[in-house]
Amino acid sequence: MSNQSSLAFAIALVSCTLSLAAQAPAPQPLKAMPYSPSLDVTSLDRTADPCQNFYKFTCGGWEKNNPIPADQAAWSVYAKLANDNQQFLWGVLEEDAKLTNRTPVQQKVGDYFAACMNTAAIDALGYQPVLSELGKIDALKTRAEVFAVLPSLHHEFPGNFFFGSGTGQDSIDSSTVIVELVAGGLGLPDRDYYTKTDEQSVKIREQYAAYIQQVLSLTGESAEQAKADSDATLRIETALAQASLTRVERRDPHKTYHMETVQELSNLTPSIDWPHYFEVQGAPGVTRLNVTQPDFMKALETELATEDVAALRGYLRFHLVTAAAPYLAQPFDQANFDFFAKTLRGVQSMPPRWKTCTRAVDRNLGEALGQEFVRRTFTADTKAKTQLMTEQIETAMQHEIENLDWMSPATKAEALRKLHAIRNKIGYPATWRDYSALDVKPDGYFGDVLRAARFEDARQWHKLGKPVDLTEWGMTPPTVNAYFNSQMNDINFPVGVLQPPLYDPKEDDAPNYGNTGATIGHELTHAFDDEGRKFDAKGNLRDWWTPEDAKGFEDRISCVRSQYANYVIVDDIHINSKLTSGEDVADIGGTLLAYIAWKKQTEGQTLAEADGFTPDQRFFVGMAQWACENQRPENERVSAITNPHSPGFARINGVVSNMPEFQKAFGCKAGQAMVHAPTCRVW
Ligand SMILES: [Zn+2]
Repeated sequence: MSNQSSLAFAIALVSCTLSLAAQAPAPQPLKAMPYSPSLDVTSLDRTADPCQNFYKFTCGGWEKNNPIPADQAAWSVYAKLANDNQQFLWGVLEEDAKLTNRTPVQQKVGDYFAACMNTAAIDALGYQPVLSELGKIDALKTRAEVFAVLPSLHHEFPGNFFFGSGTGQDSIDSSTVIVELVAGGLGLPDRDYYTKTDEQSVKIREQYAAYIQQVLSLTGESAEQAKADSDATLRIETALAQASLTRVERRDPHKTYHMETVQELSNLTPSIDWPHYFEVQGAPGVTRLNVTQPDFMKALETELATEDVAALRGYLRFHLVTAAAPYLAQPFDQANFDFFAKTLRGVQSMPPRWKTCTRAVDRNLGEALGQEFVRRTFTADTKAKTQLMTEQIETAMQHEIENLDWMSPATKAEALRKLHAIRNKIGYPATWRDYSALDVKPDGYFGDVLRAARFEDARQWHKLGKPVDLTEWGMTPPTVNAYFNSQMNDINFPVGVLQPPLYDPKEDDAPNYGNTGATIGHELTHAFDDEGRKFDAKGNLRDWWTPEDAKGFEDRISCVRSQYANYVIVDDIHINSKLTSGEDVADIGGTLLAYIAWKKQTEGQTLAEADGFTPDQRFFVGMAQWACENQRPENERVSAITNPHSPGFARINGVVSNMPEFQKAFGCKAGQAMVHAPTCRVW
């Protein structure tokens, strides 16, 4: 649930689970999606006091019953459902790989999967698939030759070489597609990994250096050469990281909007022949573009102009190999997993191959695989009901805006205009992406990977000069997630997120409005969070707030930031609430909107108690149970730096402690932990 782009158990139980796991048969493809209810009493911990820790009360049982699988960094209701989707699609893909008389969609997804599953063929090739590219890099003798190879490297090979380029909607005029340059070039998950000086961060940089040397050695480099290349890579990446904006800074769209001419860009980074660069990407004649981080481009120039050619070669070699590693022979794949999954996130073992390959098909042919998924899992009833819920929640938002006591009529009128312009996209795209230009073969996995990357790259560059495709989706149908896009001004709910235990057609309204309703409200609230509010009804970056109303908003969001900054993620690391405030506000606003919509929907009905809960209590338990999770501490440390979402316990307790409706439902009193004072509420 991100703003575009888009979650301890008893010793006896663990050992019991482990011994069971040792005897358990290997998983098989699922013939049908498994069912669990949107309000699950087995997930409760009734020994916990709901007024002191509502997350523990609703999810304590889930935490005990769902230890983190060895191939996962974290485990949650969302992750478990995503895993079920993959296990179901595994069977579909095995069938599509074998069928005769296949549709073009079945041929593409089936053959991509089959090529990925053929590890014997992948292993037999070693690192042969990257040999010719490595040879090109090794042949670079002068600085000019290094700069000359960059455009084609960016065009032909997936890899994080110094910076990123692509296309996107112009922030000021979202009806236009423009070229964008973004900061990049790092191997670690965030620029902060290079600037922090605490013991953990220093250790991770040492482990990263060891990984660089390991993969370079696998391509035949001497230990001495690999050490020199890893020193160079870390030196270059550190300089680029220091010049990169932080994640918090990047949440301000003004900080990443700098329209410049190609001549101005050439003044910032003269080492690169930019007109030639854009021509190679398939966009000749570009004259203006958004240089999102000009200071980064200056620092890049310093690196390009001062590092010696051998250092630049070492950096390029590493980024080529690390990007290719997951698709090369086992030692490369294993080294990549050992650092990025095991060391960084605490994952114990590699996922089974079927999972890796199902994810690969979803990532690269998502709207082909999505067609196979949708026709087997999505019903007209679910579509109609979730569409109705969305409209009811939008009506609730309209009434909230109309009745705000701190906002002027002028700002309200703009807010309502924006609300009414939001487009609701539910389930899957109206028009499926056409993959006919992408050639997929059942043998030669690396070729499929490269062709898929180039197909996507070309698709993005071809958007230049054409009207924005408002029907496009940023997530694939099986994805268990949802998002709001400020510039498209749309909310998007893939089929994957509209299944039990999230949306549950077997349950009544209370847990469904609590769970899926709150998710719909969450995405809708993103249109009016601290980042989303800067865009107008057309998706343009434009300040439509009076200064007094803007101050009113900022005062209210400060309340949320202060509250969430108190929650500890892991060790002594608190939530960076300037990073999470957009999500936190969406959680608070979204739950309130869903509650209002549910009350309206059930007006005049006599609702029964169930499982010892009143209807209001069932709404809140259903809401909280989407967030049940277990996380490895390593993963929590990565999340603390990179994840704009607060951890599950804070997402639930942070919300309900601001809701008198919840406190009344459970009889909570002032002074108890789930009664936050003052109440923080923006919408
Ligand atoms: Zn979100």
